Amino acid sequence: MIDIHDISKIYQMGSVEVAALQNVSLTVSQGEMLAIMGPSGSGKSTMMNILGCLDVATSGQYVLEGEDVGQMNDNQLAEIRHNKIGFVFQTYNLLPRATALSNVEMPLMYGDGHNRRNRAMEALYKVGLHNRALHRPVELSGGEQQRVGIARALVKNPSILLADEPTGNLDSKSSDEILTVLQRLNRDEGLTVLLVTHEANVGQHTDRIVSFRDGHVVNDAPVTIPLTAGAGISSNGVDL
Ligand code: ADP
Repeated sequence: MIDIHDISKIYQMGSVEVAALQNVSLTVSQGEMLAIMGPSGSGKSTMMNILGCLDVATSGQYVLEGEDVGQMNDNQLAEIRHNKIGFVFQTYNLLPRATALSNVEMPLMYGDGHNRRNRAMEALYKVGLHNRALHRPVELSGGEQQRVGIARALVKNPSILLADEPTGNLDSKSSDEILTVLQRLNRDEGLTVLLVTHEANVGQHTDRIVSFRDGHVVNDAPVTIPLTAGAGISSNGVDL
């Protein structure tokens, strides 16, 4: 689904070049759930921006569902973002005066009204918030607001969900709630989920952790669930 080969991203800061990503390769199959981790400044946001077609690499190749994204112009990139990618943000980015339902409908603005409403309700149902459809963000908990954010990302049936620190503003109970929703969407709906996090326990809820440092991938490994000391199975049940 995602095939990134040898990409680099160089920012020019006056006469100085900053290499935010250097020779990164990454392959993600449909239906995977993975975490991108690493310290501040390691290139996580740059990677997410490229994955989400918000930015393009300086060199290297990015093929998304068979399409060479690196060769596209701004309009084509916008089209890909619109049709294939759902974004979830740390701060939810909901419109405060609009209901949960209206917030979720927003990406369908140009569709017909009736169908729009049904699709938004369906997305709210998928995150278990259909019974809060007419609440405004201020009437919802942080975890519920983030579930609205996820429903809004889902409403156009994207192939990939990109979540940037989706639990960064939440307490541990709400954080678990969000991770459970994302895991369920991944396992039951086959949605490919990539999330950025700096919290190790969040990464443990995924199937695979890709670690960045200084613009390089320094580790890429399945998440293991320890059984007894020294033994483990990967989360997809394969003996390690
Ligand atoms: P992270 O998300 O892991 O904190 P970033 O991808 O934001 O890391 O940044 C990686 C490196 O690239 C850092 O050294 C950062 O200062 C630099 N960088 C990021 N964005 C820009 C930019 N727009 N212009 C110049 N340098 C940037």
